[in-house]
Amino acid sequence: ITAKDLVDASIDRIKEVDDKVKAFITVDEENAQKQAENLDKETETDYKLFGIPGAVKDNIVTKGMLTSCASQFMKNFIDPLYDATVVKKLKDEKSINMGKLNMDEFAMGSTTEHSSFHTTHNPWNTGYVPGGSSGGSAAAVAAGEVLYALGTDTGGSIRQPASFCGVVGMKPTYGRVSRFGAVGFGSSLDQVGPITRTVEDNARVLEVIAGQDKMDMTSAPLEVPSFTEGLTGDVKDLKIAVPKEYLSEAVDPEVKEAVMNALKVYESLGATWEEVSLPHSKYAAAAYYVISSGEASANLARFDGVRYGVRSEKAKDMIDMFKLSRGEGFGDEVKKRMFLGAFVLSAGNYEVYYKKAQQIRALVKQDFDNVLEKYDVIMGPTTPTPAFQLGEKDFDPMVVYARDLTTVPINLAGVPAISVPCGFSKKEGLPFGLQIIGKHFDEQTIYRVAHAFE
Ligand code: GLN
Repeated sequence: ITAKDLVDASIDRIKEVDDKVKAFITVDEENAQKQAENLDKETETDYKLFGIPGAVKDNIVTKGMLTSCASQFMKNFIDPLYDATVVKKLKDEKSINMGKLNMDEFAMGSTTEHSSFHTTHNPWNTGYVPGGSSGGSAAAVAAGEVLYALGTDTGGSIRQPASFCGVVGMKPTYGRVSRFGAVGFGSSLDQVGPITRTVEDNARVLEVIAGQDKMDMTSAPLEVPSFTEGLTGDVKDLKIAVPKEYLSEAVDPEVKEAVMNALKVYESLGATWEEVSLPHSKYAAAAYYVISSGEASANLARFDGVRYGVRSEKAKDMIDMFKLSRGEGFGDEVKKRMFLGAFVLSAGNYEVYYKKAQQIRALVKQDFDNVLEKYDVIMGPTTPTPAFQLGEKDFDPMVVYARDLTTVPINLAGVPAISVPCGFSKKEGLPFGLQIIGKHFDEQTIYRVAHAFE
């Protein structure tokens, strides 16, 4: 099989399904074909992703290709001068980037309905959302349009859409992957990670994109192990912790049953499990929205119509220009987060909200440290329910935020976690995922455990 064959197959599939799925914002057909033709002329083919077609979420910077963050404000950002480190690393291993994937605007949301361009549909049932914010990434992989995609996860945005679309999604340990060139949302929480069909593919892509980067101070100075070599299938004597907070009444009975069945599979392979408690989980979503919005309000200050963003044509003076450009450019969800962020950081409110949220964050992290001292991994559902129907986003935002119960604590703690498919809802045929959470920088165990279940 040639690189050209792979790219052509990807283009054919995109043409066949993407007007229904709408996973892409940009498809770069011509360039991809040219790259494939050039690769097929090379004699040296010993690269980790030689000729493999993938795509990246639209908040990851790509030289010469639109990076819009699914925002009208950024629709003119066609020519970033550089590639994000992760994109460069994929190119170095000769992968071919087919284009850029849809998302909630600036990665804020759980459904991809907050994209200012179009809504992505769940490939399993197009009346449902693909999840979010990396909904385009998960849908593109689930629909077979590309072999892998990159997403970003600040509070579940890789794992939740992977769960809703029946694919594998990994949020690496904070610091495992460079954030250079990934547009910042909550910088102390953000991580880039792969979405794929199989655990092995996922391990391979993470192997390529991980590692210390001098352009990102928070990337960890650690060797990247060969994640693919560790996929032995052996989980004998593995100690699994199951937090009771992740199997509360809020969890759909079918999802609960699928998780219990997964635990039985692990038992049959020689692992053991016990119920544990992560007592501060119930405060995690509140703390997450305070911290991530505070950080977002600082990060998004650079979008002012001067340095970045489409400048309003109606402005009469400078202040007017900032106000109108931001007012016209940002969507409602983004504005809501920035108001909240500026509020919790302002004098007088800081102590009451932001500082308190940071204290909760420390307690949440402590919960994980305590459990992971005694157990190898933590397991539970990735999300309490399968995908929501399209249009449900207008429900009470507090209900929407509460759905992040099982995903955001992991970002607050900074630990790695994967979502692997573990079942389908009987009525709508919608998939859901098993979440496997590991120790800091122990993605290797997570991959080994996830692979044993596949
Ligand atoms: N649901 C979360 C939010 O809206 C997910 C964000 C993310 O991980 N990018 O903030």
